[in-house]
Amino acid sequence: MSPDPELSPRRAARAEAERLATAALAQVPPPAPTRRQLREAAAASTVAVDAGAGAARGSWRRLPEVVAALPPHRRRRLAVVAGAAVAVVLGVAVAIGAAAGSARDIAASASVDDTVSAAVAGPPAVPDDGLPIPQVAAVAATATPCDDPAFTAALAQGDDTAAIAAAGGGSAFRTAVASGLAPCVSLSDPDREWLVVNKQRPLEPLDYYPGDLVMPSNVRALEQSALRAAPAEALTAMVRAAADAGAGEIGYLSAFRSYSTQQSTYAGRVAVGGVAEADRESARPGFSEHQTGKAVDIVPCSGSCGTLDDVAASRQGEWVREHAWEFGFITRYAEGREDYSGYEPEAWHLRYIGPELAQAYHDGGYTTLEEFFGLPAAPTY
Ligand SMILES: [Zn+2]
Repeated sequence: MSPDPELSPRRAARAEAERLATAALAQVPPPAPTRRQLREAAAASTVAVDAGAGAARGSWRRLPEVVAALPPHRRRRLAVVAGAAVAVVLGVAVAIGAAAGSARDIAASASVDDTVSAAVAGPPAVPDDGLPIPQVAAVAATATPCDDPAFTAALAQGDDTAAIAAAGGGSAFRTAVASGLAPCVSLSDPDREWLVVNKQRPLEPLDYYPGDLVMPSNVRALEQSALRAAPAEALTAMVRAAADAGAGEIGYLSAFRSYSTQQSTYAGRVAVGGVAEADRESARPGFSEHQTGKAVDIVPCSGSCGTLDDVAASRQGEWVREHAWEFGFITRYAEGREDYSGYEPEAWHLRYIGPELAQAYHDGGYTTLEEFFGLPAAPTY
């Protein structure tokens, strides 16, 4: 490629300008540093070198790993400190040379003014005990949501939704609990969405009675049975969505049953079929999800309503299998999981665990709440 003839005159002009500027500078040497500047430069170099020594206290051999482990803003600060120390040492050397009257060093001392002012401004403060060394154990500890003030505050306030959000969502919450990293979460607290009741995990206390029972609005209640506020609201929304989707009307039979009601229910089953038969179909008092106020037995309705046994084959039952999780419900006793629950499959029995956990349950393909939370199977008392 041939040179552009247009540039040649410009280059010549620029070279001439540079030559003239250099000549002018040579005739006007920069002023030598004053005594005060020299004193300040020497003092600053001591400060900067001390700071550097503080940073390195312990072992120099560890410095690269310490620096690598520092967050970016601390690395930048260390670079400034080190740079200031080197610059000040160089500046002092130059200044001493200038004081000795060396013409060459006087010319170079143009940089001393800058160095001195930078050094006098002072390097950023470094803690007396040296730079902080990140602790590996402290990083690992943050893996538990129980160390997060937002999580523990939400737990203390009884705000399950906020606690799950603070833990990073339903799936993260589940993982933390199932892997034993959330000891502050109790799966036995009957007021929590994540409560697990089964044949090995009775309610505590055995005669627990929920405090906020209400009747779900706009849902056909065949037994006038109540639910806790959150599941009641979720049932209303689910029943409306099923109707809107053309899946027909969903009504319900039993929701909350008290400890004493469960005593008579269970005793009635025992009277009819014996203990073994009763235990496959009904919970003993103190071991029933119905006593929590978070469980409901639905039925399909079309004019009149069908029975519990009609749910599985109904279009309502089919819709519920696909969509109940969107409203916070799971099919608690799934087909083929009697080995875990000890109950025959109950397509009608829905348990409310809240929308975040229900989504994690659905997305993870879980069919027992025990496996979801890493608990052992509980087929028998
Ligand atoms: Zn039930």
